[in-house]
Amino acid sequence: MIIDFHTHTFPDAIADKTIAYLTEKGGILPYRRGTLGALIDSMKSSGVDYSVVLPVVTNPKQERTINRVSAENNGKNHVFFAGGIHPDCPDVCATLDYIKESGLFGIKFHPDYQGVHFDDPRYINIMAEAAKRGLYIVTHAGWDPAYRDHLHCSPDMILNVLKELKGVIDNRLILAHLGGYEMPDEVLEKLIGAPVYMDTAAVLRPYPDKCREIILRHGADKILFASDSPWDSQYDYIQYIKAFGLGKQAEDMIFHKNAEKILGIL
Ligand SMILES: [Zn+2]
Repeated sequence: MIIDFHTHTFPDAIADKTIAYLTEKGGILPYRRGTLGALIDSMKSSGVDYSVVLPVVTNPKQERTINRVSAENNGKNHVFFAGGIHPDCPDVCATLDYIKESGLFGIKFHPDYQGVHFDDPRYINIMAEAAKRGLYIVTHAGWDPAYRDHLHCSPDMILNVLKELKGVIDNRLILAHLGGYEMPDEVLEKLIGAPVYMDTAAVLRPYPDKCREIILRHGADKILFASDSPWDSQYDYIQYIKAFGLGKQAEDMIFHKNAEKILGIL
């Protein structure tokens, strides 16, 4: 059983345009089209049983639509969805209540595309309210290829949040890209052993050896298999994890057991 915890899809009508825009902005070529259908095809050809789609709300006005579409599609076609929330959300509690009542497992933050630092008080308030409702918080962490001049979610900002919300969000926070895209050394130095999950999206191809070290030191019980499809290949990412030779028990946790617990499908 394999669950890919970090993928993206866009509505059919805007998928090609959005992928073209993001490709130009970030300088990264996609491995498939950006539609839900293309994700389902990729899952079938790669041997992925379930995928999790993480939508990003870049404008508070999109929130309602994104969460409604996530709720409508959640669990269908073996695809689960996170909800989305913007730091300038006018009614944090109502939005989080809707996400919780819709049966979604959590929310996705993208500090770069949402124009805030991860330890911004608005984010901290949203995280405290989300954790209170039993929701998980997934955040992009580290550098973003489209924002090379400004880091919005550093290991130090993550430590600030963990300190501020100690006991409140322990084991509810999921850091994408093994804790920090393109900053594995600082992750190894500062985040190993923190009460956070880390996903493997987008980092296994560029620096596999560092990833293996992070996984071994942070512990397989806190690692989620993820590809960042369409930005990398689900099939190749499975092979990267298998090549690490972590053993059956660790692979089971990384490929599905940890995700099953978070998604509530155990
Ligand atoms: Zn992503």
